[in-house]
Amino acid sequence: MSLLTVSNVTKSFGALRALRGVSFDVHRGEVLGLAGPNGSGKSTLFNVLTKIPVGPDSGRVVLDGVDLSGLRPHQIVRQGLARIFQTETDFGALTVIQNVLVALPRGIGRDVRLYALNLLEDFGLADQADRPASEIGVFDRKKLMIATAMACAPRVLLLDEPAAGLSKPEVGAMAKLIKQINRQDVAIVVIEHVMPLLLDVSERLVVLDFGEVLAEGLPGEVVRDPKVIEAYLGSEAQAHA
Ligand code: ADP
Ligand code: MG
Repeated sequence: MSLLTVSNVTKSFGALRALRGVSFDVHRGEVLGLAGPNGSGKSTLFNVLTKIPVGPDSGRVVLDGVDLSGLRPHQIVRQGLARIFQTETDFGALTVIQNVLVALPRGIGRDVRLYALNLLEDFGLADQADRPASEIGVFDRKKLMIATAMACAPRVLLLDEPAAGLSKPEVGAMAKLIKQINRQDVAIVVIEHVMPLLLDVSERLVVLDFGEVLAEGLPGEVVRDPKVIEAYLGSEAQAHA
């Protein structure tokens, strides 16, 4: 059953048509992988879905029956659509726990610090709660960004290249984390160039190319699609072999 329905979404930057009528569904409780060459529009898609900084030029995005077109970015988060960015966007001058505290919505109870600590515990970050975020490692910063998104209690979580720059064991740990979050009934869309991670976690794959959906389906079938191999996997698979 579709939880997030993206219909015919377009976005241009001047003459550049970054998204040319993108449609796909995110099913309740699934992990959907989003692949595609550099510049194919993956991050732009996350940007327009969350309206950071602006929504699509045209098309419709519906989250659990609610049309997001009239909503502002913070209202979209409150509806249950949260994301992490491709680059580290945590507040480096704040401590790890302060990063989570600023993301928590109002009304979650009195002991917000305990709530935030429990969340950090889930990500193995509790022992670093009072360190400035700028001082923790790259993997921990990525986990902190995801923890901060999870503080908003999303129903759909958008992850933009969570494994970029991680070591092999860290990639494995990230895959585990994605599955752990998914088990809490959070649907996840994950953009990733690290194919072993994408194939490990994704139940379905969507491949973008030049702002269009090139292929969609079961991972095993999509990676064998000659169009996908030509556009993307040949070079990427070699680059990451
Ligand atoms: P991907 O994440 O798949 O690598 P992006 O979504 O970042 O690709 O970019 C898609 C295309 O849109 C690229 O050609 C990129 O240069 C362009 N683009 C993205 N954001 C902007 C922007 N704010 N202004 C102008 N061009 C942009
Ligand atoms: Mg990108």
